[in-house]
Amino acid sequence: MIIVMKAGAGKKDRDEVVKRIKELGYKPHIIHGTTRDVIGAIGDERAKLVLQSLENMHGVESVVPILQPYKLASSEVKQEPSQVKVGDSVIIGGSQVVVMAGPCSVESEEQIIESARLVKAAGATMLRGGAFKPRTSPYSFQGLEEEGLKLLAKARELTGLPFVTEVINPETVDLVADYADMLQIGARNSQNFALLKKVGQCGKPILLKRGMAMNIQEFLMSAEYIMSEGNQGVVLCERGIRTFETATRNTLDLSAIPVLKLKTHLPVVIDPSHGTGNYHYVAPMCYAAVAAGADGLIVEVHPDPERASSDGPQSLKPKKFAAMMEKLRLFAEADGRTL
Ligand code: PEP
Ligand code: MN
Repeated sequence: MIIVMKAGAGKKDRDEVVKRIKELGYKPHIIHGTTRDVIGAIGDERAKLVLQSLENMHGVESVVPILQPYKLASSEVKQEPSQVKVGDSVIIGGSQVVVMAGPCSVESEEQIIESARLVKAAGATMLRGGAFKPRTSPYSFQGLEEEGLKLLAKARELTGLPFVTEVINPETVDLVADYADMLQIGARNSQNFALLKKVGQCGKPILLKRGMAMNIQEFLMSAEYIMSEGNQGVVLCERGIRTFETATRNTLDLSAIPVLKLKTHLPVVIDPSHGTGNYHYVAPMCYAAVAAGADGLIVEVHPDPERASSDGPQSLKPKKFAAMMEKLRLFAEADGRTL
């Protein structure tokens, strides 16, 4: 249920409502709006009618059911788009299109620092790089693990770019959260509910990738797992789904952008690298994603893709990335945004 507070209601009224929600056995989630606050009461769906009695409390305008199975993620609860802050200065979901770029995997100090410098020079505002890699084959490179996190932190120190990196199991969430500015949940883990709950408690923003066989409702239910643990800093990432098509690694579902914009207030980021699997296709998908309203992009860039430990074929060389960024700026500006 959503408890909609009156426009002039103050903190005292809100505190009373929160107290009552807890007494009734529900979890309150306060969402501050520009004109009024709303409070989501999350819990047992079957007994939710008891919450209707809150309508008589001081400062309450109405109590309305949330129809979608995802509650906190739903635009029913919050109509204004959410902004997610990463590090000290990056805002995802504002008027700036946020570009996160860097290699698939952190391979060495030299590689990640060079990557960070190059993507920053081209205009990226965040660094990406995998330290823990979820590989389809157990014989493939699994990542530098904590050493990789340290190298990412060093690259951040030298360039000022905050970084996003993947966490692959609940046991390492605290470790990754100690270093990273944003934690990525990969496509293979997007319905790992124990992991989703754990990152919901880590206090850092989350980049949640869509699973390769996940529909939009399931995607939003995964976001709900994170949010229901108290973490509202969720950014959704469409990275391609599996279809019958073999000409691309995945089928990048750009229609997910307007669909998600309608159904949720959470920011949406597009990953054209995993979405297509081929560097030739990355730039056009970047332009299309921004034109379709994506709040940001996550792009794989490697100083020497032929020698990359993972995902070389879909990684842009720094020069190609810089050229893409130049043109992308025009698409962002055409939509009244900046890069
Ligand atoms: C990655 O970002 O390198 C990655 C493994 O992505 P995904 O989970 O989308 O395959
Ligand atoms: Mn990759």
